[in-house]
Amino acid sequence: MSRSEAPPRRRRGGGRGRGRGSESETASPTPISERTPLQNEGSGLGSYDGPERGKFGDIDVSGPIAKALAEIGYENPSPIQLEAVPGCLEGRDLVGQAITGSGKTAAFSIPICERVDPYNRNVQAIVLVPTRELAMQVAREVERIGKYRGITVCAVYGGQPIQRQFAQLERGANVVVGTPGRIMDHMGRGTLDLQNVRVAVLDEADEMLDIGFAEDMEFILRHTPRSRQTLLFSATVPGFVKRLIRRYQDDPMWIQLGAEIQTVDEVDQIYFEVAERDKQDALKLVLSDVTDDYRMLVFRRTQIGVDRLAGSLKRAGFGAMGLHGGLAQGERNRAMGAFRDGNLPILVSTNVAARGIDIPEITHVVNYDLPDNVEEYVHRIGRTARMGRRGYAVTFLAEWDFETWEKIREHIGEDRLIQGSLPFYD
Ligand code: AMP
Repeated sequence: MSRSEAPPRRRRGGGRGRGRGSESETASPTPISERTPLQNEGSGLGSYDGPERGKFGDIDVSGPIAKALAEIGYENPSPIQLEAVPGCLEGRDLVGQAITGSGKTAAFSIPICERVDPYNRNVQAIVLVPTRELAMQVAREVERIGKYRGITVCAVYGGQPIQRQFAQLERGANVVVGTPGRIMDHMGRGTLDLQNVRVAVLDEADEMLDIGFAEDMEFILRHTPRSRQTLLFSATVPGFVKRLIRRYQDDPMWIQLGAEIQTVDEVDQIYFEVAERDKQDALKLVLSDVTDDYRMLVFRRTQIGVDRLAGSLKRAGFGAMGLHGGLAQGERNRAMGAFRDGNLPILVSTNVAARGIDIPEITHVVNYDLPDNVEEYVHRIGRTARMGRRGYAVTFLAEWDFETWEKIREHIGEDRLIQGSLPFYD
């Protein structure tokens, strides 16, 4: 069932086919060659209104989107894309659950880029994500998929000067990708108007609807039209999310690929029993066993734990940096950028990097401190072995971890877990 659209609103300016900033209903369209970036930068220009169609595998898409996908190197849809994109294109609400690293971002970015009108200056799609790093990453994906349709994207997140975001929003953004706090900040200042949103996406939906963000979600979504399309995506959809769905969605399609809790087949999951005081030695042993081009993401529970471990690895001669919410955004960007670009082999992080971060070259995830629950475990180790690549997930179990580990093990399945032994205990 597709829902009725909101009543047409008067556009603030630059409506489809009209000159930028033109308020006059009678103004003649600006020739394509004279249009400014907002009105369709990049190329494909004429094709937006034209009959040109394209294919993404068996899915019908517009010419400019097909061209962008081919250029990125997406030849065929992944299973979640194959299942989700057609329904999303029809405007249906949808819950998409699929394993980590399976292409969920493009599964919602493609429909967004198709459903948004680049000639309309209003914000028509909003993507809500839990972390700043994910906001930047998802914004980049939407941008590159929408490039030839001239879709404009603004990433809105804390830590970046708000003025820069004002300017971008002022120029007009078709799609906003952001973290809840900064989005509400802009809403409060009147610099972000969500009344024309047609598509709202909650990426990492279970985290967005969990206690930490629940009130913010309620507030943000209340300021969008009821007629909007709402898409929820995550690798994990626990029971409490299922109960909340009716609050935000209308007769959603459910797509669940794989089991309720599932880890990727290509990841070897190894665990070691190790006393807290021996963990650094254990990590060094793991590091002595890796190939030259390893890239390792190490999770710690606390910010101070991250700082200490990153510092001591550095002193021991390893290339390591820390990432957590207590660092200035510049430092966060430097650490993430170096890790992404292959200039830093080890990133030590709190859960801020647990979800969504897509760095296909990550070879190892280390749970230096055990995650609190199975969902967190699934997301953390999902940073490796993406889209068919191989990876290793190493988990340290300290003195007090056995109860939590028992629960995780029950969900993951005994047969997927390999117990390793540390020579210094032999
Ligand atoms: P995601 O789960 O959205 O983070 O995507 C995981 C990885 O798969 C990313 O590196 C994407 O660039 C890549 N990807 C997404 N869709 C496709 C596709 N259809 N073909 C090949 N790679 C893809």
